[in-house]
Amino acid sequence: MDIGGTKLAAGLVDRSGALTCAERVPTPASGSAEQVWSALSALVDRVRRAAAPGSVVVCGVGCGGPMDRGGREVSPLNIAGWRRFPLRDRLAELTGLPTFVDNDAKALALAEGWIGAARGWRDYLAVVVSTGVGGGLVLDGRLLDGRLGNAGHVGHVVVEPEGRRCTCGGRGCLEAEASGTAIEEVTGRPAAEAGPAEVQRSGMLLGRAAASVANLLDLSLVVVGGSVALGFGEPFFVAARRELAARAVLEFSAGTRIVPAGLGAQGPLIGAGAVGWRGHDARRTGAPASTAGLPFTATGTPHHDRTMTADRPPPAPVATAPPDDFDARYWRRAAAGVVRAIALRPGLWLTAVTVTGRLARRGWWYRWPLLPVPDASYWRFRMMTAYGGPGTELPCPKDVVAYLEWCRGLRRGRG
Ligand SMILES: [Zn+2]
Repeated sequence: MDIGGTKLAAGLVDRSGALTCAERVPTPASGSAEQVWSALSALVDRVRRAAAPGSVVVCGVGCGGPMDRGGREVSPLNIAGWRRFPLRDRLAELTGLPTFVDNDAKALALAEGWIGAARGWRDYLAVVVSTGVGGGLVLDGRLLDGRLGNAGHVGHVVVEPEGRRCTCGGRGCLEAEASGTAIEEVTGRPAAEAGPAEVQRSGMLLGRAAASVANLLDLSLVVVGGSVALGFGEPFFVAARRELAARAVLEFSAGTRIVPAGLGAQGPLIGAGAVGWRGHDARRTGAPASTAGLPFTATGTPHHDRTMTADRPPPAPVATAPPDDFDARYWRRAAAGVVRAIALRPGLWLTAVTVTGRLARRGWWYRWPLLPVPDASYWRFRMMTAYGGPGTELPCPKDVVAYLEWCRGLRRGRG
């Protein structure tokens, strides 16, 4: 179930993350607690009738915050009738199933790591930019909860110190400056009708917040969903990437990527499913859900990160990596790639390209052996001028091959 201020949605999510039978109704947002509940319970009944008898084993929910830890009581800001509403117990009673409730943005973070744009990544931030701005953090392969379950609340990172008042009581928060609500208040028009200047500014501010998070938490991917961000599209993401690149410049944070969410409108329900499956798995092992890994850990691709540093030597190549001798025909099977360059110590560099597409699903990436270069600035200079530096996206097989050939030439002293 996905519970928001504009709609209530329910669906069936199987073990592989496939969503079937999604249903939705408008949220009676100004209704009483029981009016909202009866709309939700009717929806749940409808979806359960569509499922094969006995096939539904767990109930997972993504819901707007705030809530207490574990979602026993929820008080979504945009559903006025629900204040400390005992959602988890009511749903468990209605369905007779083990029930798990989490913040909707954290649910989306799970979904994107499971089968979306963050699949195979162990360290990332997922952001939802819609009427508000929410987020979820995954570090070391685990969704962070924090003391009361609110970790990842990136909407209240300050991006304009003297900016607008925020509903949280603060000033200049990302949500107060770049959410759909904020844009509508400033321009007098819905966010969907925002002009290029507003689109660019909200992207830029998102990039600014993302840079702070990347510098703080040593993560290398930011996945952005939500109707406002996805509706703005490429100009929004270009502005976000530019600001991020300018402000995340530490060795470990330079090259952090911002990408659109991979699951689009299905993300929230698949995320709710992930909350359910995660709780289901944890329950079987007797551990609390908060200590469980993501539901994808058993089936996901090995992660390929760029966090190797001088005092942390690179791991051995993954077992499935192809031989080191370069074969362009082979690499044309990659769909695209991202340049990685890692300084092991001054003057000794490792360059690699992480591929996406068919090869990536098998966990393959390509790296050149250690590359002694005259000095680090030489190599960085060559990277920057020829390929734009670490984090550069190589959008097609031709570019992947060209980049690898260029590296090979450099290694042989022809570069
Ligand atoms: Zn705020």
